[in-house]
Amino acid sequence: MSEVLTILHFNDVYNIEGQKDEPMGGAARMQTYIKSQQGLDPLLLFSGDALNPSLMSIFFKGDQMIPVLNKLGVAAAVYGNHDFDFGVDHLEEFADQCKFPWLMSNVKDIVNNEPLARGETYVIIDHGGIKIGLIGLVEEEWIDTLSTIDPDDIMFVDYIQAGTHLSNLLRQQRCELIVALTHMRVPNDKRLAENVPGIDIILGGHDHEYEVFKVGSKYVVKSGTDFREMSKISLKRSSEGQWDVDIERVELDSCIEEDEDMKAVVKDRLSSVDEKMDTYLGHMNVDMDGKFSSVRTQETNLGNFVCDIMLTATKADCAILNSGTFRSDRIHLKGDFKIRDLLTILPLVDNCVVIKVTGAQLVQALENGVSKYPVKEGRFPQVAGLSFGFDPTRPPGQRVGGQLVKVRGEYIDMEAHYRLATKEYVALGKDGYDVLKDCEIVVSAEQCAALSTMVQNHFESVAIHQGQIKCRSGHRQSLVALTMRDDLLKMLHANSEIEEEENHPKRLVRQESIHCLEMEQNFLAPRVDGRIYILTEERRHVMQSMMPSGLVRNLSTVKEEAGSQSWSSMSQVPQDDAP
Ligand SMILES: [Zn+2]
Repeated sequence: MSEVLTILHFNDVYNIEGQKDEPMGGAARMQTYIKSQQGLDPLLLFSGDALNPSLMSIFFKGDQMIPVLNKLGVAAAVYGNHDFDFGVDHLEEFADQCKFPWLMSNVKDIVNNEPLARGETYVIIDHGGIKIGLIGLVEEEWIDTLSTIDPDDIMFVDYIQAGTHLSNLLRQQRCELIVALTHMRVPNDKRLAENVPGIDIILGGHDHEYEVFKVGSKYVVKSGTDFREMSKISLKRSSEGQWDVDIERVELDSCIEEDEDMKAVVKDRLSSVDEKMDTYLGHMNVDMDGKFSSVRTQETNLGNFVCDIMLTATKADCAILNSGTFRSDRIHLKGDFKIRDLLTILPLVDNCVVIKVTGAQLVQALENGVSKYPVKEGRFPQVAGLSFGFDPTRPPGQRVGGQLVKVRGEYIDMEAHYRLATKEYVALGKDGYDVLKDCEIVVSAEQCAALSTMVQNHFESVAIHQGQIKCRSGHRQSLVALTMRDDLLKMLHANSEIEEEENHPKRLVRQESIHCLEMEQNFLAPRVDGRIYILTEERRHVMQSMMPSGLVRNLSTVKEEAGSQSWSSMSQVPQDDAP
């Protein structure tokens, strides 16, 4: 048995090529470092997030990582949230090609009653004569937000419960060292460290900041990101049978030569990007309008297409994209749609978020969106899950018919909270969207798939829906907004007790309702459906006259405060107790 066990640890890697700024990193530098440690016979462990997001992942769906992780010599890994970005089927195929096991100890797939994406519950490795037990734990926060999985299809077990059970089990199997690979935020790692004495050390991912801290005598390690940093952990058995731990932060900067062998792998992947440009995604049944003159001044079917996908993938109530997102400035003719087309429209890796906004903030955001009209500004909004009108003859900031805005088909409530999906850029207050910048983030950029990934997944779901490809796992990105499905289910529930019947398990009813909704739609024929309209005075009057009287009464105060035309002057509105 060796005196000292050396573990090399890394997490959250996205770009296999080196970066321009220090530490330049890259897979080839990490390889050089690992080789330099061979005399210590190190055990290489990885804490998740390899498949996405990166520019290269748009072409390879993360498969560029397979030869890299295999060559580095990873011994075991835990799944991270971004590893699910291209769906469970894809992840399972990916994991099958890895020469090491992927752990998933505390999330079960209800469809097949196995660990999610057929991960391992635990792994025992005999390394240098030491029997090591490995478990992989994740947090519920990101499991609930995966765009390719319906949260109702999986069962999350608290990581403390799973960690306690598994560490006991591994001790019984005479493991001398128990390592938890985790993909969760620091507070959750802390909670794990505090509550599961059976775990000897926690090697975490998900956070990208390099960090080492101690909870009692137990270390928690986060090893940076992107092949730029890693940790060298030396474990020595103390006289009391405990482990003395020494942790060294390793920066993979340009002083480290790139390993030639790995460099060739990276170069090969980069050079095959060109061929991948023509990868077929689907067949569009209509032309899509991406001209700046359209997308920056009015609702377009391209804007609706992408916003609807974002809404569905994020499970939000509504979605806004600044039209500056759409870069192609052209009509995309109907027919085959390829990766090249997707990249012409969305050339960047756009990070998305879901934030919590009040109705009033949402209206203010829309006001900003139309404030420069008719100038073709990138702030003009494309939307989903909401509809609104604006009057360009009015001054900026007073153009949107606030009380006429609808979210999920209902009149907006200025005080209510809504989950708004948007780009991180917009949520940061860019393009004049200041009002959004202090809103609570419900789903962070790290937890969201990139916008282009959502669009790719949509094409794949359509292909599955049309029977062109099979979905083995039963999980895929939904084609209709889950909120729409929930509304439908509520209706079904109100009409019958179908959900309670034993012959109709909940999941089946849910799947059937999704299927019904999906059958009704032609997914690759987006159209303009009037979600953004010009609000003339005449139209405003007609729309106001159609509002339920209770709502009009509530809104009249708001309206008068704003100093515009009084509701009471409108004869067609019911006026029981108007001010
Ligand atoms: Zn992550």
